[in-house]
Amino acid sequence: MIDVRKIYEENDALLTGHFKLSSGKHSTNYLQSAKVLENPKVAETLLSELAKQIKESGLEIDTVCSPAIGGLLAGYELARHLGVRFIFTERVEGKMTLRRGFDVKEGEKVLICEDIITTGGSALEAAAEIEKRGAEVVGFAAIANRGLCKRSGSEIDAKPECKLPKDLPFFALGDFIFETYDPENCPMCKEGSVAIKPGSRGN
Ligand code: ZN
Repeated sequence: MIDVRKIYEENDALLTGHFKLSSGKHSTNYLQSAKVLENPKVAETLLSELAKQIKESGLEIDTVCSPAIGGLLAGYELARHLGVRFIFTERVEGKMTLRRGFDVKEGEKVLICEDIITTGGSALEAAAEIEKRGAEVVGFAAIANRGLCKRSGSEIDAKPECKLPKDLPFFALGDFIFETYDPENCPMCKEGSVAIKPGSRGN
């Protein structure tokens, strides 16, 4: 089994400091998956392992779809190892949309792939766009889970914040569980430090 935390640490992708997450909460840690995936060999190691786990589950997949930008590299590399097509959704004026001539067929089996799943909000928006067009979302995948959702094979139950549907499988290589704080209760803010937002969604 792969040690995702070690791989993130080795690639300077597990940041330590004072961060503002896209949820609005503050955290002592931040995952910068782009730093891991900038090395194609590392991307291959991670996503081939995830593909193996998905194949072993026996889940049938025609297409991998990722919400841009965060999920693009992980989703493409996963699709390559599964031997299926890859498409992506992107935000147009805030709304997750399938563009660029991409389409899905009635009944097509689609797996939604992110880099990291926190609450699964963007993944769920991508799934809604796919299902609106008549295809079937059969599951979700990410390199790692932030500990709010329940990944296949894990003993850790989903938290109320998790937006992923409970009746579909969610594949990930590990859990990253960090302490998060509401800004008004953040101990680092209380010490006078200002949270930074290194992330992706709308910032
Ligand atoms: Zn803070």
